[in-house]
Amino acid sequence: MLSSQRFRFDGESTDSETTMYPAPFRYHRAGSADEAISLLAELGDGARPLAGGQTLLVWMKLRFDEPTDLVDIARIPNLSSIEHDDHQVRIGALATHGRIAASPLARLIPIVHDCANGIADRQVRSRGTIGGSLAAGDPSCDWPALLHTLDAEVLCQGPDGERTIGIGDFVEDLYATALQEGELVTGIRFALPPARSAGAYVGFKRCAPAYPTASAGVQLTLAEDADTCADVRIALGSAGLTPIHATAAEAELRGQALNETTIERAAEAAVAASDPVDDQRGSPAFKRAMLRVLVRRAVGIAIRRCNGESVEHSHEYY
Ligand SMILES: Cc1cc2nc3c(=O)[nH]c(=O)nc-3n(C[C@H](O)[C@H](O)[C@H](O)COP(=O)(O)OP(=O)(O)OC[C@H]3O[C@@H](n4cnc5c(N)ncnc54)[C@H](O)[C@@H]3O)c2cc1C
Repeated sequence: MLSSQRFRFDGESTDSETTMYPAPFRYHRAGSADEAISLLAELGDGARPLAGGQTLLVWMKLRFDEPTDLVDIARIPNLSSIEHDDHQVRIGALATHGRIAASPLARLIPIVHDCANGIADRQVRSRGTIGGSLAAGDPSCDWPALLHTLDAEVLCQGPDGERTIGIGDFVEDLYATALQEGELVTGIRFALPPARSAGAYVGFKRCAPAYPTASAGVQLTLAEDADTCADVRIALGSAGLTPIHATAAEAELRGQALNETTIERAAEAAVAASDPVDDQRGSPAFKRAMLRVLVRRAVGIAIRRCNGESVEHSHEYY
């Protein structure tokens, strides 16, 4: 298995095998999801869907992936909507990070804005898509961790029809997802957070066009008394080979008074659940120290937002 150290494109060196040109490939443009699925089936296992290209083209230049055919799905209509009703949010797979950050949904659910607006720089945000970010199976990508925090479902369509996969079952391993050959992510769905619920997603990174060194997402619901945690979800990004749903950390807060002691216990439990890799962004010890701070910070911002405060926050830089 390739280490994330070799396979990283964020302004730092990769290794001597790095090349600037992809291997030859054929380009196809699909006009609908059905057409893309037929094309992928017809072209076989050398074919890949191309969405924003912000990960796939880098993989191809590094020869990490050498597809024979690219099926461009970026212009398929109806796969980029961002909608919600009183109960549920639905985001099309082709919605870009930039459009999500600027959407009314991001104003309604600040944790969505934290995530979308913190991804890379404006150029990457204007092309990269939420579906591509999930399908890449990269533990450093922000959306998979954020969508664990929101307990999302991934909507998929393939040769055998449509299916829905819980986010916890979607990312299986480093760069490996539950997607089957020729299957597309078509959208993401999650419940609209209830009243007295708010979240925060905090990433720690070197500069804008770099993936986070570590990140933490917290979605918290306050009890009637406003001092007790009724419910919480906590997830970590760049903290292991897959996003980590920190259930033991949640247990430290659920039903408990929210104070320095319980929040510190939750941060400790989150760190204990992490297994960060040693790479150019830092040692496991450094990343664990960051995760402890990020979880505390995300809980603190979530509580303030639950209490009606407007807190502008996104990634932090060092
Ligand atoms: C300089 C730089 C900095 C970055 N920094 C960050 C960062 O800080 N945080 C972050 O989260 N990300 C970061 N990214 C990655 C970025 O978010 C990408 O947009 C995202 O990872 C992939 O989305 P995409 O639409 O570009 O997918 P693509 O590159 O087109 O595809 C990625 C993979 O997913 C597959 N795929 C794409 N869409 C689908 C679909 N709908 N169904 C099935 N398979 C699909 C492709 O076949 C390919 O294997 C960065 C990228 C760059 C170049």
